[in-house]
Amino acid sequence: MAKDLYGILGVERDASEDDIKKAFRSRARKLHPDVNKSDDAEEQFKELNEAYDVLSDPAKRSAYDRFGTIPGAGGGQSGYVDLDDLFGGMGSIFSSFFNNGGGPTARPEGRDMGVGLRLTLEEVATGARKEIVYDRLSPCPECGGRGCGDDGREAVCPDCGGSGRVVTVQRTFLGDMQTATTCARCGGSGAVIENPCAECDGQGRVPDRQRVTVEVPAGIRDAQQLRVTGFGEAGLRGARAGDLIVTCRIQPHEFFERDGDNLHARAHASMVQAALGADIEVDGVLPDERVTVRIPEGCQNDQVVRIKGAGMPRFRSESRGDMLVHVSVQIPRKLSKRERELLEQLAEEMGDRVSETRSPLEKLRDVFN
Ligand SMILES: [Zn+2]
Ligand SMILES: [Zn+2]
Repeated sequence: MAKDLYGILGVERDASEDDIKKAFRSRARKLHPDVNKSDDAEEQFKELNEAYDVLSDPAKRSAYDRFGTIPGAGGGQSGYVDLDDLFGGMGSIFSSFFNNGGGPTARPEGRDMGVGLRLTLEEVATGARKEIVYDRLSPCPECGGRGCGDDGREAVCPDCGGSGRVVTVQRTFLGDMQTATTCARCGGSGAVIENPCAECDGQGRVPDRQRVTVEVPAGIRDAQQLRVTGFGEAGLRGARAGDLIVTCRIQPHEFFERDGDNLHARAHASMVQAALGADIEVDGVLPDERVTVRIPEGCQNDQVVRIKGAGMPRFRSESRGDMLVHVSVQIPRKLSKRERELLEQLAEEMGDRVSETRSPLEKLRDVFN
C-alpha cells in the first residue's frame, strides 16, 4: 500500500485545493532543510513535496484516490504506472524496446482540437469577441463526466490491475520478450465502471455542440493561434480535457493590403492636385477613421506617401504601423471648353506643342477611328 499522502500534509481526504495549498505552505516552512536540522528533514521535505505534487493536481489526486497508488513521477500522463515500475528491474531494456514498438498509447486525457477562425481586417484592427461553434466530446451532463450511473462506482480494472497496460510474455530464441499493450477491458484508463452511465456508456463524455467565446487581441497576424484551455476533447471519465487551438485566418480586404503592421492603400489625385500638392482624405482601418494624405507638390504617378501611425494597431501594444498610400494620378478624359483653354494657355507657357482645338465633327471621327 502506498503512503498516506493526506496524512503527510495533515489534511482530510475531502480537503479543498485551498486547504491543501495552505497545509503545504505551513508544513514546508517548518520542514525546510534550511530551518529544520533534524537528520531526516530532507527526506521529510521530499515526501511533503511529493504529496503536494499529487494532491495539488486534480488528475493525479483523483488517480491516487481511486487506486491508492502514487502516479508515476515525471510522466506526462497522470494516473499511469511508470514503465520502469511495470517492468521492474528490466525497465531500461524494455522501455527502449517499447518506445520503438510504437504500440497504442492509452489517452485518458482529452486531445487538443484545432479550429480555424475567419476574421476581417477591421476586426483585427479593433480586436474582437468571436463565438466559435464546433462539435467535440464534452463532459457527459448526465453523470458529470464520471461515467457512473446511479449508485454506480468505479473499480480497479481486474485485467490490468489499474495500470492500464497489459504485459504479455513471448518466448523467442533470444529469451522471453515482454510487450505492453493498452488494456482492452478498460481502454487504458485502469478503471472499470460497475453500472455505467447510460447516457455516455461509462465514457464520461458525449458528442456535443459546443459554443465558446474568444477574445481576439487587436493586431493579431494571419495563422497566429489562440489557445482556449480545457475546450478540446473532454478526458475519459473526468480526466483532463484537451485545449482548443484557434488558428486565425484573416480575410483579404477590398482596399487595404497588410504588410506586417503596415497597410498599403491606393488613392486618386487629379493631375492638378499632383502638380500643385494637396491634402486628400481616405478611409482608415478603424471604424469611422479618416486619414489625411498629404500629396506633395510635383507628386508622380504611383508615388508612395507614408502616413505614420495610420496602419494596423500592433499586437499587444498601443502603437500602430504606417499607412503607405500609392498615389494614382488621374488625367481627365474629357475637358470643358474653359478647362481646355486654360490648359492650352499652360502649354503655351511651358512651351509644349499640343493638338489644335478640334471641331465637334473631328471629335466624332476620333470615336469611330
Ligand atoms: Zn454519463
Ligand atoms: Zn484494464
